[in-house]
Amino acid sequence: MGVFLYINMTTIVCCLLFSIFLSVIYFSKKNMNNMENKIYRHLLIINNLELLATLLFDYCALINNLPVIKVVMRIECVTSSVFLLVLFFYILFISFENNKKVYDKINTKKLFYILYSIIFINVICHAFLPIDEFVLVNGELLKLTGIFNDFYLFCMALPLVSSIVVVAVNRKSIVKKKLSVFYVMSCFGVIMLIVYLILPQFFIGQLAYTLINYFMFFTIENPDMKMVNELNLARDQAEKANNAKSDFLSSMSHELRTPLNAIVGLSQVVINTTSESETRRDVQEILNSSNNLLELVDGILDINQIDSNNLEINNSNYKMNDLINDIIKMTDRRIENKNINFKANISPDIPEILYGDKGKIKTIILNLLTNAFKYTNEGFVELDVNCFNIKDKCNLRITVSDTGIGIVPEDIDKIFDKFYRSEENKDSNIDGTGLGLSITKSLVELLDGKITVNSNYGEGSTFTVTISQNIVSDNNTEIL
Ligand code: ADP
Repeated sequence: MGVFLYINMTTIVCCLLFSIFLSVIYFSKKNMNNMENKIYRHLLIINNLELLATLLFDYCALINNLPVIKVVMRIECVTSSVFLLVLFFYILFISFENNKKVYDKINTKKLFYILYSIIFINVICHAFLPIDEFVLVNGELLKLTGIFNDFYLFCMALPLVSSIVVVAVNRKSIVKKKLSVFYVMSCFGVIMLIVYLILPQFFIGQLAYTLINYFMFFTIENPDMKMVNELNLARDQAEKANNAKSDFLSSMSHELRTPLNAIVGLSQVVINTTSESETRRDVQEILNSSNNLLELVDGILDINQIDSNNLEINNSNYKMNDLINDIIKMTDRRIENKNINFKANISPDIPEILYGDKGKIKTIILNLLTNAFKYTNEGFVELDVNCFNIKDKCNLRITVSDTGIGIVPEDIDKIFDKFYRSEENKDSNIDGTGLGLSITKSLVELLDGKITVNSNYGEGSTFTVTISQNIVSDNNTEIL
């Protein structure tokens, strides 16, 4: 038994164990079904086949079974040249990864069709081309000549040289991390070819292929890393698209507000100055519709800000009593001509000065009151503000109840969804956008609070918000 046969067998057994281990890890993980992964799977399988064939070759050499050796050697030549061919396809594909124009045009089905056709020709030629001289001494392959060997060398050199050329030409468009892997691969390939020409009895190719697979696995093909990279890429793209949408919505909403404000202002002027009742009625319609549209645009602007996380919390010192008084003044207009009794009860336990986002708390209460007035025709609307103080925290409990139309139980879970309006309201002449409660809920959650609703259809509804605010004990602090 020759020394190379011994070295070869030991190396091949180690490589085979390692390659099987690598394949088990790779195939047991969830991979993305993209072109790169598909090609890499081929590389792993071919490497295992080649190692098996080489092991069989060595075994037959050991027992001196010449006819089987020749067949196994042909198989081995096929697998080792096909490995380089598949690797070339992988490199070709990766080279265009950053070149979107070319990358999008690549037809993966056609690519595999071409690859399998070349493999088929390779197999046929390696199976039937004649071997002139085949010298095996002590189980070591010393000489292999003839058209078979020329073809084998051609099949090895062509993908190797092509890969080096493709990498050199596209080096700028290849991701840096991958580029270094390709350089290492090319080095392995060249060393392997030189060693084969000088020492054909030393099977270095199998070792090189296993190392290439190993290298690829731990740098660019590891399923976990790949999954994370792909997810990061998808997240970046989704963020970009979302930002573009937000910018568009926000600039559109701003653009719409200017002409709408002009329509509202001028309509108001016409209503105040004209004496013709028909004209007043018509212009009032224009005014109502414009106000609705303005409300919708404002709602979209708010929702857009919330969705794009652009809403900031602006904390300051404020007096709850002043805030409720402001709200009461604003609600007068909302009661309109309805026969509604409005009551506001503020608990005396509420500390005089609180620290929190006054503007958002005002919007939350106003939105709930606006709905209460809108969906109540007679009876009462009540605003209760209570608190439960612990140390320097004031846990506010804001309740808005009404004796309005109420909400059907099936709608309770949906009323906080964007643009949701109950079917009944859509058909009625009550105007709305379906954004108020969605905005309210987002604001409450932004302030770490909670909102709940209790309603009896036909009898009324109660919305409860709980939010915690800081208590300012120094009464001389500045109130903005
Ligand atoms: P909008 O009032 O503009 O339709 P909202 O998001 O404020 O939109 O409310 C969503 C839906 O919740 C309303 O269409 C209505 O069906 C229901 N709703 C909200 N508040 C009340 C309430 N106080 N009484 C009865 N229904 C209500």
